[in-house]
Amino acid sequence: MTQETSGFAAFNLNQNILAAVAATGYEEPSAIQRQSIPIIMVGQDMIGQAQTGTGKTAAFALPILHCINPIKREPQALILAPTRELALQVATSFETYAKQMPGVTVVAVYGGSPMGPQLKAIRNGAQVVVATPGRLCDHLRRDEKALLTVNHLVLDEADEMLKLGFMDDLEIIFKALPPNRQTVLFSATLPQSIRAIAERHLRDPRHVKIHTKTQTVTAIKQAYLLVHADQKTSVVLSLLEVEDFDALIMFVRTKQATLDLASILESKGYKAAALNGDIAQSQRERVIDSLKDGRLDIVVATDVAARGLDVPRITHVLNVDMPYDPESYVHRIGRTGRAGREGRALLLVIPRERRMLQVIERVTGQKVTEIRLPDSQAILDARIKKLTNSLSPLVADAESTYGSLLDCLTADINCTLRAMAAALLRIATNGQALNLDAIEKERRPMAPTNILRSDRLERSSVRLDRCNRERRFPVPLAKGHVRCRIALGARDGIVAKNLLGAILNDGRLAHDAIGRIQIRDNFSLVELPEDGLEALLTKLKDTRIAGKQLKLRRYRED
Ligand code: AMP
Repeated sequence: MTQETSGFAAFNLNQNILAAVAATGYEEPSAIQRQSIPIIMVGQDMIGQAQTGTGKTAAFALPILHCINPIKREPQALILAPTRELALQVATSFETYAKQMPGVTVVAVYGGSPMGPQLKAIRNGAQVVVATPGRLCDHLRRDEKALLTVNHLVLDEADEMLKLGFMDDLEIIFKALPPNRQTVLFSATLPQSIRAIAERHLRDPRHVKIHTKTQTVTAIKQAYLLVHADQKTSVVLSLLEVEDFDALIMFVRTKQATLDLASILESKGYKAAALNGDIAQSQRERVIDSLKDGRLDIVVATDVAARGLDVPRITHVLNVDMPYDPESYVHRIGRTGRAGREGRALLLVIPRERRMLQVIERVTGQKVTEIRLPDSQAILDARIKKLTNSLSPLVADAESTYGSLLDCLTADINCTLRAMAAALLRIATNGQALNLDAIEKERRPMAPTNILRSDRLERSSVRLDRCNRERRFPVPLAKGHVRCRIALGARDGIVAKNLLGAILNDGRLAHDAIGRIQIRDNFSLVELPEDGLEALLTKLKDTRIAGKQLKLRRYRED
């Protein structure tokens, strides 16, 4: 057992589950996991107050998988989620944690896709059913006995389910389940309506809440950027260009991410290293010493590995991944602002983590300011400033050493001093782009070849645009396609995978019918086949994601 899985090993979970957790790279359980797993494992009812980003999915998925009997081919656990997106996400998490449990299958049951295959998967013995309440009720109307074997029920984001008007559906589902089942309820808030459900349907539940006490972080200037998960690496690189840092520590959630990001940074010329729980103590000390004396400028760390790290040179903390509770955030940013200096803390927030940001603001009693992604002009300015700073100390005495040589070289090569200086600048900057056009070009996205690897979308030839959604540039259309506009964007929590799923399902399209999808801040663009477009737009008229209408229409670029 490696050092970092020992936290999970303490739970006595099934070895196959522990092995799957180790493979995800999680170093230790989050606060909600530490408290919930032992309770859920023994079959006790529980109310957990936690929001997205705290690691709540694993908090119930791991102990529930532990209780599943893989030999019995029948539904044993039912997870209810308010939206199709969350249901898919939870189902994917279950699949990840059950990867090494042969015989365990998971089915996601949600509206907007044909009922037949979902019902078949339940009848074929999927042990874990992750469902939205509305669609599950449709199934129960066809087969009211479908859930009689369920021993474990989880209501995920219960407050959201009530907000979306699922109260009546929930009552129908409760009636279709055996009364002696285990019931676990997770909710970010506990209004009276949720307490009433708990009173009626949970038996002697244990309460789990992550207590957050106010903590001050006055010497630290905090800012956040709203980004899409796919953009993180390019956002990190842009921020490093414009932020004036001495030493910087970045936080990510997994040890694999520390290695990946550190190697990208090294390849870009930064003096960077990874720090995670797998790294031996002696090596860890070497990394910290190097950060102290300037042989390293950036360390990419997990929370566990950075514990107690005290390096006065650290001017910046960059939270690439959201911490899973506000205490971790306060701990992380406390790595800067040391020795009475002012520090800077930056946080990348993906749309579904905005709630956690609010919790952080409440706990720290401070507003975290939103900043925009640096544009090409800001990057150009920063590069020129760096160049100026490195050249200005040299001009005073370089001429006495190199002046005559410069005269000889210009004469030999037969060029002007300006041409010679330009050539030397190219060498000095390693050919780095130093004009707007070149920087724009450099920041353009990689070839859009990312093919979705999820379930039935695997064979799709859909190309996802992993680019920065802020950039506007002409992209050639897929053949026979037109570009259409959707009124929802990243700010509405839209991700390409869900958009794609919704259009494929509701539009009954073949997998390869959709071209590129681009998610922008306030809207999205998708390439759809021109042939039959009007009929398709009619089919998708009522399609919703996260409860919001797509308002799909043809997009005219002029
Ligand atoms: P959730 O709050 O369940 O939506 O989880 C938020 C994110 O945290 C997901 O990307 C999980 O994969 C990740 N996560 C969950 N538990 C851990 C853990 N113990 N260590 C690191 N990451 C985790």
